[in-house]
Amino acid sequence: MPVINSIAAMEPEMREWRRWLHRNPELQFDLPKTAGFVAGKLREFGVDEVHEGIATSGIVAIIAGRGEGPTIGLRADMDALPIKEASGVEHSSETEGKMHACGHDGHTTMLLGAAKYLAETRNFKGRVALIFQPAEEGGGGGDVMVQEGVMDRFEVEQVYGIHNAPNYAEGEFFTTPGPIMAAVDTFHIDITGKGGHGAMPHDTKDPVVAALGIGQAIQTIVSRNHYALDELVVSITQIHTGTADNIIPGGAYIEGTVRTFDPKVQDMVERRLKQIVEGQAASYDVTAACRYECGYPATVNDAEKAAFAARVAADVVGEGRVTANAPKEMGAEDFSYMLNVRPGAYLLLGAGTGPVLHHPEYDFNDSIAPLGASFFARMVETAQPL
Ligand SMILES: [Zn+2]
Ligand SMILES: [Zn+2]
Repeated sequence: MPVINSIAAMEPEMREWRRWLHRNPELQFDLPKTAGFVAGKLREFGVDEVHEGIATSGIVAIIAGRGEGPTIGLRADMDALPIKEASGVEHSSETEGKMHACGHDGHTTMLLGAAKYLAETRNFKGRVALIFQPAEEGGGGGDVMVQEGVMDRFEVEQVYGIHNAPNYAEGEFFTTPGPIMAAVDTFHIDITGKGGHGAMPHDTKDPVVAALGIGQAIQTIVSRNHYALDELVVSITQIHTGTADNIIPGGAYIEGTVRTFDPKVQDMVERRLKQIVEGQAASYDVTAACRYECGYPATVNDAEKAAFAARVAADVVGEGRVTANAPKEMGAEDFSYMLNVRPGAYLLLGAGTGPVLHHPEYDFNDSIAPLGASFFARMVETAQPL
């Protein structure tokens, strides 16, 4: 069974919604226009309940099917990024410095498309909870939605989410049993030395050389402390220090990101970072402190639900266009918090060639929106058939 016909017919309308959202990007939890637009559309479609203001600007809408049954959760993220858009498209951001560079405008549109179809047709039992969350791009809006009791309050039994994926084959679905996206942690290192004249280093305790030493030594966590067949990324992404060519500064700052799937690996990295920073600092006669912050946990699909989601996706786009055992990604996703409390699956939907996510020239590929909407709708009809 291919893309649902009435959803395919909705493509021009969905394109309009998506482009409106793209022109009006908002950040983090502060989504008054976006949430207003979504709630307005949901009411227009005749869903049964619209609950606003969850996690500040999140929305849960309920559509009741025909007859008793469980509640299935479908999730989309709504927030944009602090990037100056350079896509040059006609529907470019109208707010300088904010941009839908991750396609959450498209995700919101896909879930709205499914909502319209499901509210009209209701060919399922039980209920569907449409979860529109804020603050996926930092802020952990998914976590806050869970903390505010969304899963219990609406009795969600299982939950599904989709992310568009540039440079994956257009219109193909990818998922996998078990971990699919990594956990993301951050480390911060403050080095304190003693500044002075660049020509008289013997009178200083140079934090720049110490920072270089620490930066090099950190590379050995992956190469020397870690089992080669497990996944781990440790990247130093910022070093700040110094003001002039003839001044040795008094301090330096290093920051970076850690991506893992296994909590044991996470613990090892935290322990080794602290040991390396302390040991290196002592050897350079400076002091240094390392702060390790845990961010989003790994996104872990339920094996059975992932296999089920792959079958539903195959129903929509065809068997040959679904990869049910896709490789893991080192990116992170706060849908992980929902999957930590309910079984479900996260899927990538190929967007075809183009600029990558978070790039200033990125734009969501509107032609895949009906596929995502059809997947969501078919998921409900298949999981809770009449
Ligand atoms: Zn993103
Ligand atoms: Zn995203």
